Formats: sequence, C-alpha cells, structure tokens
Amino acid sequence: MKLALFEGQRRAPAPGLQGQCPSCGAPVMAKCGNYKIWHWAHKTREHCDPWWESEGEWHRSWKDRFPQEWQEIPHQSSTGERHVADIRTPAGLVIEFQRSTIHPDEVLARQAYYAKMIWVIDGCKNEFDPINFSNWRSQPNEHGLAQFAVFGRSKLFERWHTEKPVFIDFGKAGFWRIAHYNPKTKRGVALIVDKEAFVRIAGSGSTDFSGQGGPASPL
Ligand SMILES: [Zn+2]
Repeated sequence: MKLALFEGQRRAPAPGLQGQCPSCGAPVMAKCGNYKIWHWAHKTREHCDPWWESEGEWHRSWKDRFPQEWQEIPHQSSTGERHVADIRTPAGLVIEFQRSTIHPDEVLARQAYYAKMIWVIDGCKNEFDPINFSNWRSQPNEHGLAQFAVFGRSKLFERWHTEKPVFIDFGKAGFWRIAHYNPKTKRGVALIVDKEAFVRIAGSGSTDFSGQGGPASPL
C-alpha cells in the first residue's frame, strides 16, 4: 500500500520508517527498494485485505490522479469485514483499479461489499489485447461509441461481464467504457472516454456512472 499511519498521519513510505496499517492497525514496514515500487508491507504476514493486489506503476499512477485523501480508504461492513478501497470519493463512489485476474465470485463479492463502485481494468496486462481491441472495433461514431466483435481466445470481456460500470485502460489504444457485451455473440459496444474528463466527473459527485450499468446490464 502507498499510505500508512505514521505519527498519526497517513503518509507515503520513506526508507527506514515503520508505521501502522490504517485498516487492521498492525505494524507495517516501509519497503523502499530498487525493484518494486515503494510501498508499505505488513511486518508479519500478507496484506490484511485478501482482496489487496500488489501494486505497480499502473496502479499507483491511477490512484495519484485523485487527491491523496481519497486513496486507500479502509472500510468496515456491519459484519466487521474489512477492506481497503483504492479510491473512495467524498460522494462515496468506490473506484477499484484491477490488473490481475480475479475469480468471478470475488468480482461479485466486491461489488456487493462496496455497492456504489466502478471498475478500472488494466487492458495492457496481456500485450495483445490492446492491439486486438483496436482491430476488432469500428471507428467511434459522433457520440464516441464503437462496435466490436471478439475473435480468438481473449477472455478479457467475459471476465468483466458484470453489471457494474467497467472501464478498460488500453494504454495508447485508449481508455474505453464497455457499454455492453454479449458473451454468446462475442459482440459489444464501447465508448471512448477521455481520462482527464473521467477523473473530473468521477470526483465531482455528479454521477456514480450506474445509470447505464455495466457490460452485462440490459441495453
Ligand atoms: Zn492491515
């Protein structure tokens, strides 16, 4: 994680520091090496949040598009279940940045836990996905909507076939909201989204993007 409690304040790691996990309260050590991104790690075990994913540049640069006060926000449900949201805006919208593949049950569990949430997926984890997506889609129309059809074995759209809003970051191939996807016909509709505008709108509290639902929502 990027932020731990140190002398009562949430702060980024620096060499030699020992802090406290904002979620479980356990001691955490600043890990400031040359190979992995600087982070805080629990001293005695894995991260206390089983949903936590080890972070790289992609995660960190997305989080840093939002104010630090909105980053890595601990949550506790009425049953005492604790998780840390990547971003939680003042309006209560949770944004989860996801690079690794997670089990469909965990997708559903996270959606149920946070309720008001959206997914931002790293579409560049498989190097062929951005190239393929560019080849599979039409030119966006005047509203930014493009049709696409999946050929071959990519499971990216099946994996994120869900009723919460899904945005896929294809890097140079663009940032897209998957408006709809049909796993039977392997066809879908995507909307090209400007990243800066997305960050501004997500942070504004004016919408939680739920109006149009996710790729699995009825058209
Ligand atoms: Zn912890």
